[in-house]
Amino acid sequence: MSNRKVAYVWEENLIEHCDRLPAVIGRASLVHSLITTYGLLNNVKVVRSTPATYNDLKLFHSDLYLDHLKTFGQIDDDYMPTTEDEEYGLGYDCPPISDLYDTVATIAGSSVTAAKCLLLNIADVAINWCGGWHHAHRFGAEGFCYVNDIVIAIEKLKLKYPEVLYVDLDVHHGNGVQDAYNLSKSVFTLSFHKCEPGFYPGTGHVEDIGTLKGKGYMCNFPLQAYYSDETFEYVFDNVFTMVYSCFMPDAIVVQCGADALAHDPVGGAGLTMKGYCSCIQKVLDKRKPTLLLGGGGYNYTNAAKLWTTITALVAGIELDETIPEHHYWPKYGPDFRLSVQPLLSKDVNTKQYITHTISIVKENLSKYLQPDEVVEPLIKKRKIDDEDDSKDKSSIVMKSKLDLKSENNDAMDVHNQVTDKTVDIYEFFD
Ligand SMILES: [Zn+2]
Repeated sequence: MSNRKVAYVWEENLIEHCDRLPAVIGRASLVHSLITTYGLLNNVKVVRSTPATYNDLKLFHSDLYLDHLKTFGQIDDDYMPTTEDEEYGLGYDCPPISDLYDTVATIAGSSVTAAKCLLLNIADVAINWCGGWHHAHRFGAEGFCYVNDIVIAIEKLKLKYPEVLYVDLDVHHGNGVQDAYNLSKSVFTLSFHKCEPGFYPGTGHVEDIGTLKGKGYMCNFPLQAYYSDETFEYVFDNVFTMVYSCFMPDAIVVQCGADALAHDPVGGAGLTMKGYCSCIQKVLDKRKPTLLLGGGGYNYTNAAKLWTTITALVAGIELDETIPEHHYWPKYGPDFRLSVQPLLSKDVNTKQYITHTISIVKENLSKYLQPDEVVEPLIKKRKIDDEDDSKDKSSIVMKSKLDLKSENNDAMDVHNQVTDKTVDIYEFFD
């Protein structure tokens, strides 16, 4: 067991809404079910997610986009997006779905709930696998993402933590979050991703380092196809360490998109649990308030395996390699193992390319991040901490107990001994 306080954000309704997202249908249930099956809910504080308010959503999104989302009630299967829908990105890879505004508010709310756990010192690490939609923009949806829960959560975190480091591990460039903070020096965006001609979204080059006063507070590490654990760990170790020591953040947000795992049908990268976990461990070692979010991941069972493994890593629990029997167990065949096998394809990133790109990053950091600019006055910060603590401590209580066995939800396996327990659910009062 680790000695850190870990919050895990969950809600029946959240899982239902997430399960309906067209790009990841049913994935949220699979993830939550595997985490439950391994008994990990007994090692974390389960915090009930509450939907975001309109004002929360407005921290990033425009009124026009949000009001348009409200126009969708029940959508028929044969609904054809209108020209206006398309203007808000609602077509192609983000088709309108029923009750879209509710879905967006529920998903954004889950990351806001996770952020609150850090703000109120309920957790050192808050986990929300239903969040991480890094492509959504202020005025519309993009790349399977209807709402940028990440930016909204970061805006909340900034109330207490003035400088936030955003780390994006998804195989795709985190363009939505980056664009939101292009002009900002209070949020440093760091993205590791595959960058090849024709690969979505086509942005995130090493030369992209922010604009005007935000210049230097953005770092992109583009990788070529089939990048392996070895390459990724080396790059992450060098780049994350440099960025961290130059920027010295007050909090860290990590988008743990699972589509850089080997065998993802969209990704084309070659990571395994080892690559992801060694990066997460480096982040955890900094002992800063940390928010862990999901993201892409289109081999759903592999995404569930990864996020279960990371949850266990954070909680300091070792997992059995054999996946326990549960409702979704047949999907993990034929091997029923927790690990993901590496690719046979060759990592095409050469040592020269990696070394050269690291040297560009280093040069940029030393050019734009002056130590005297990034050190926060400690006295000022401590004062804010105290004020927030005294004001908000009463706003969370242990509201209910969740009897996993009695839940009328077939995602929970009633025959599984590990889940046959009562779990405390914490809930925020507004
Ligand atoms: Zn992705």
